[in-house]
Amino acid sequence: MSVSIHGANGCERYRGSFKACRKVTGRGNVISFTNGYHGISLGAVAASGNRFYRAAGGVSLCGTTFMPFDGYFGSAIDTARYLQKLLSDESSGIDYPAAILVETVQGEGGINVARKEWLRAIQAIANEVGALFVFDDIQMGCGRTGDFFSFEFAGLSPDIIAMSKSLSGYGLPLSMLLIKEEFDAWQPAEHTGTFRGNNLALASATAAINTYWRDSTFSKQVQRIADYMRRQLEVIASKHGNGFVVRGRGMALGFDCQVPEVAATATRKAFEKGVMLERCGPADQVVKFIPALTIDQEIMDEGLELFERALAETLHEVRTTPN
Ligand SMILES: *Cc1c(COP(=O)(O)O)cnc(C)c1O
Repeated sequence: MSVSIHGANGCERYRGSFKACRKVTGRGNVISFTNGYHGISLGAVAASGNRFYRAAGGVSLCGTTFMPFDGYFGSAIDTARYLQKLLSDESSGIDYPAAILVETVQGEGGINVARKEWLRAIQAIANEVGALFVFDDIQMGCGRTGDFFSFEFAGLSPDIIAMSKSLSGYGLPLSMLLIKEEFDAWQPAEHTGTFRGNNLALASATAAINTYWRDSTFSKQVQRIADYMRRQLEVIASKHGNGFVVRGRGMALGFDCQVPEVAATATRKAFEKGVMLERCGPADQVVKFIPALTIDQEIMDEGLELFERALAETLHEVRTTPN
């Protein structure tokens, strides 16, 4: 793998990654998926589903074709098969892609989890049509799902991997693209900028990797606490009714409130009690649980308890306020 080191943000990766794919394949189109989120630079936002972010650029976004993510129409419809059909039909209207861009778990999109079989099918399609298989591991990588890379469980071999967010291990700005040697078509400094390769972030990233990823101890610890968090959230979901759904993988869990106002009020109340929880999903209806991977059980319990109290108060208000 070649490593291309970038600056502070993850979406810069997509400018880099798309440029690399287009340069390698000579094609212009990139396939991305519904509810995907890849950042807000023009290249990245063109591949992101969210209308709010898409509108912010003020220009028409092009060069991407959206396909339904795994489970988009429910479990009965195989969306990989749909993509395969469109790409094998010479008259489907879809240009051959330079790249297929995918997340294993859509973080911003609502903690939507792709199945192993689906991911493998998408990789096979990319290989078949000569597109680069590009993985966005910016949010789900660096141990978030248990393994260092979120696609390890499916045994995938992406051509390009984008990494950022927790990569520095210390909240410092660092992002990079890992590119398979044979697809690294860039000349030295062909894709560059002033503030690349923050030295301190590179040092902390190296320390984090050497400390936590030398063997499988940390990975197992993440998985153990993740299983615990999932069980606790499932208990909260079933105790409070309302059709709540818990989903996710490893330490990336979503508590789908179904109703956006419930998620909004519960997270606001949780914040007032001292817990910061983000929302995600197309209507911001999902409460996202992505604690520090080094969290201990005591703090986890405290956080979950405060969330449960916030949720209970929210439901009490919803149920007692006439509308
Ligand atoms: C945050 C994020 C990005 C963009 O990273 P920025 O640093 O905000 O530009 C891209 N993809 C995913 C999956 C992300 O979570």
